[in-house]
Amino acid sequence: MYCEECGAPNPDEALFCANCGTKFVKAEGGGQEPVEAPKPQAASQQVPPPVPPPQPWQQTAPPPVAPPQPRQEFQGPSGGPGPGQYGGPDLNAPMGVGSWLAVYLLMAVPILNIVLIFKWAFGNNVNRNKKNFAIAALILFLISLVLSILFFIFFGEFFYRNMGGAYY
Ligand SMILES: [Zn+2]
Repeated sequence: MYCEECGAPNPDEALFCANCGTKFVKAEGGGQEPVEAPKPQAASQQVPPPVPPPQPWQQTAPPPVAPPQPRQEFQGPSGGPGPGQYGGPDLNAPMGVGSWLAVYLLMAVPILNIVLIFKWAFGNNVNRNKKNFAIAALILFLISLVLSILFFIFFGEFFYRNMGGAYY
């Protein structure tokens, strides 16, 4: 049924209009509902007119436009803590177990591991955990390389002398 005053749709068993509060006079009432006389409390509650719907132009008022921040591009590479600054995944988020498993498995591949270490260590869009891991692995690799070179320089010469002296 529809309200005679405002035309709002209401359920058939409604006693008052949900929109404007007009009492419905059931002329065709077949006596199905025993409660014909509404309670005075309900009537008093329905008496105050409902709040008119807010004007749509008030809700759609344009919010104050935030000033653009052109320096975000300069702050990005500086390493500032900006989650979601690139619009991608959070680079500061902790890596899951699956990611670490993938890292360890990839580190077992002979040549791919070196490529990935360099890619992770110097890449920009790399998770910081993986990036730090790659940098640390790179430092250890360089240390071991230097130590091995020093080892061959000193002990290589030592063995060379001994072997050379053995021939005389
Ligand atoms: Zn109404």
